Parts: sequence; C-alpha cells; structure tokens
Amino acid sequence: MAPAKLNAETLATQIREGNRASLARAITLIESRKPEHRLIAHDLLTILLPYTGKAHRVGITGVPGVGKSTTIDQLGTNLTATGKKVAVLAVDPSSTRTGGSILGDKTRMELLCGDPNAFIRPSPSAGTLGGVAARTRETMFLCEAAGYDVILVETVGIGQSETTVADMVDFFLVLMLPGAGDELQGIKKGVLEIADMIAVNKADGDGWARARKAAAQYRAALHIMRPASPNWSPPVMTVSGLANESLDKMWKQVVIHQEKLTATGELQAKRSGQQVRWMWSMLEDRMKALLRENESVTSLLEQVESAVESGSMPASVAVQDIMDSLLNSLKNG
Ligand code: GDP
Repeated sequence: MAPAKLNAETLATQIREGNRASLARAITLIESRKPEHRLIAHDLLTILLPYTGKAHRVGITGVPGVGKSTTIDQLGTNLTATGKKVAVLAVDPSSTRTGGSILGDKTRMELLCGDPNAFIRPSPSAGTLGGVAARTRETMFLCEAAGYDVILVETVGIGQSETTVADMVDFFLVLMLPGAGDELQGIKKGVLEIADMIAVNKADGDGWARARKAAAQYRAALHIMRPASPNWSPPVMTVSGLANESLDKMWKQVVIHQEKLTATGELQAKRSGQQVRWMWSMLEDRMKALLRENESVTSLLEQVESAVESGSMPASVAVQDIMDSLLNSLKNG
C-alpha cells in the first residue's frame, strides 16, 4: 500500500474518533497546494465520504458590523449547550489580499473559542474565491465525518461570495441591520433571492422599533418574490445576537426547513445538484489551469489573444487553434 494511503487511513480513523489535532492537521493538508498533500487529501475525502452529510449546513452572511461573529458565538453556544457539536468555518476571499481573515476569527467568538464542542476555523487565506470555497467545502466534509452536527459557514456580502456559500449549504441565513427604508433600497436584490431566512439583528434597546420596521419592509419585499423552493417561504425575524434574543426561534426555523426539505426529497436533490455544479466548476478551473500551464499553448495564447483583440481573427477560430494545439501537445507529450 502506498504511504499516502496509510497516512490518510490513520488520519481518517483519528478524525472519526473526534481527535481535534488530527482534524486540524487534515484541514492543513486540504489547504495545502503541494501535490503530495493533495493526493493524501483526496484519499482522505474518499475514505470519509460515507460518513458525511448528517450535519445541518448553514451559511450566514451580512455586512461587516451586522453582528455575524456575535450571533454565531451565541447561537453556537446555545447549540453546544444542548449537546450539539458545532463547527464554524469561513469564506473570505478578501483574506487572499490582506493575508488574514476577519471571519471565523477566534478572538471575536469568545464563548465558542473555549468550548470543547466547538471547532472554529478561519477562512483559507490563499487562492481565488473558487479555491477558498473548495477548501471550505472539503473542510465541511471533514467536520461532518468528525461528528459535528452543525456547520456554520460565515461570509461577507462581497461580490460572488454569498452565492458561492449559498451553493454549499442547506440553509442560507442573511443578517440585516435595523435600518429605515433607504437601507432597503440599497440591498442587493440577489441576496433576497438566495436567502432562506432574513434576521434583522440588533433588535434590542433603541434598535428594537427600527428592527421591527425593517423586518416589515423585508417581509413585503419577499412577498412579491417567488420563493426559490416550492416547500419553503423564507421567514423574516427580528433577533438580538448580543442579548441572545430569539436565536432559539431562529434555529427552530432551520430545523423545520431541514425537516420539510428532507421529507419532500428536496434536500437530497439540492445537495446532489451542489456537488455536480461544484465538480464542473472545479473541472473548468483545472482545464483553464491546464491551458495556462501548457508551454506550447501559452505562446499561442498570447498571439491569438492579441489577434482577437485587434479584430484580425474571429474568436471561434482562435479557440479552435488553441484546442488543436492543446490536444496535439497532450498527444505528443
Ligand atoms: P460582524 O462584523 O458582522 O461579525 O459583527 P460583530 O459581531 O463583530 O458585531 C459588530 C458590533 O455590533 C459589535 O460592537 C457588537 O457588540 C455589536 N452587536 C452585535 N450584535 C448585536 C446585537 O444584537 N445588538 C447590539 N445592540 N449590538 C450588537
């Protein structure tokens, strides 16, 4: 047996036994770009695949300052108090540029941080959004195999990160600030389309009345949209992450959603669709990388790209030339 296989098997056993150090080590392997690490990671994922899929997968988004860390910290703590194991992961493509992640930051989740039934992992800090999301998705599978009952994936509302996270979870929760009408004008319609629930946070003290008003407006906005699922109309709630107000009601909705979608078969279909879309997106990324790494293609790429740019070559002819060149070099190579 290859040594890689041996390593993966040992690690897989330790992960299933709930060994946190092994889980962390396996995630490091998954995040590594070294080909030998990728090989072990692939073995590990294959071995652990049958033990995945039992968790509630929940994505949580909202603008910076809305209260994601505070709410996740409190919600997670409520859940571990009922005996659940909770993993908090993050998808933050900006961490690629800043070299660090503000999401999934342990110092911002003080309660969960010392909780033996919680596991917090910040965003992988290298690569494109696709790369970061792929690593997080694989980390989610490892956590499920390690027996985590709830996976919370935190992200910020920047660019494509929300849709990417929505496409790796069962339930997508959007946190909103209590604001007046103009705020509602400014929100992206896209996020309402992918939300399974909207929670207006900071519904406490002075914010309470404004939060109620904002919730009514979001309710009206959602009312005129067709729900993405025939089995679920996204509810709008007011909560306070800080005061631990209504977080239990919020979680109840996640559980009801899971029950409904499981009963109708929609959950399984949703997860399968996500896996297949993910496979295609990884394949497309790999194919592009293959093109860019192929020496005979790269020189041709530059030529045809400028020819297309200057209008002297039809794009379709350029594509055919590149494909011919790639296929030839693979055949000969
Ligand atoms: P994040 O950037 O979305 O993770 O937001 P944080 O969780 O760091 O919260 C930003 C600020 O809002 C902090 O000062 C929190 O104490 C505060 N905050 C978070 N949740 C609540 C809440 O429910 N009510 C109130 N009043 N403040 C909150």
